[in-house]
Amino acid sequence: MKIFDRKGGMRIPEQKAAEGKPKKDPIVLKECYCPNGHNLINVNTKFNKLSAISIQIKRKKQEGILILNPVCGDKNYVTIGVNKMDNEIWEFHCPECGIELPNYAPCHCKGNLKMLFCRSQKDYNHFVGICNRAGCNNSVIKKGDELYNCTDIQNC
Ligand SMILES: [Zn+2]
Ligand SMILES: [Zn+2]
Repeated sequence: MKIFDRKGGMRIPEQKAAEGKPKKDPIVLKECYCPNGHNLINVNTKFNKLSAISIQIKRKKQEGILILNPVCGDKNYVTIGVNKMDNEIWEFHCPECGIELPNYAPCHCKGNLKMLFCRSQKDYNHFVGICNRAGCNNSVIKKGDELYNCTDIQNC
């Protein structure tokens, strides 16, 4: 792993107990799309200097924008327009066209894994699935025939 990034900043590897296999760099999403092909990753919105994922969230009469960390398995977020997401289930929409992101599968928390497509042409074999319940870290990556849990992907 490179210790210094291009700008000379230091990259501190996350500390984790060794589990046999060497740890890989985390996967950082560079693009992900709504079903109409709008890129949900906005280069003007940064999360820890990385271009962040923006999703319009709705619940009852509340509406806002969820800014998600693009590092897989690291579900840190901030919200704009809503004070707290609590542990509630939110609708996920494209901020550009308003379409609701499709469900991939129910989550163990009774939320749903929402599909963010990895390609601008919607491709059900390449997507990231993110639970729409605030506080639930469940997320998956589908790559062709393989499905990974994001929290395990560094060890895949
Ligand atoms: Zn859209
Ligand atoms: Zn969940």
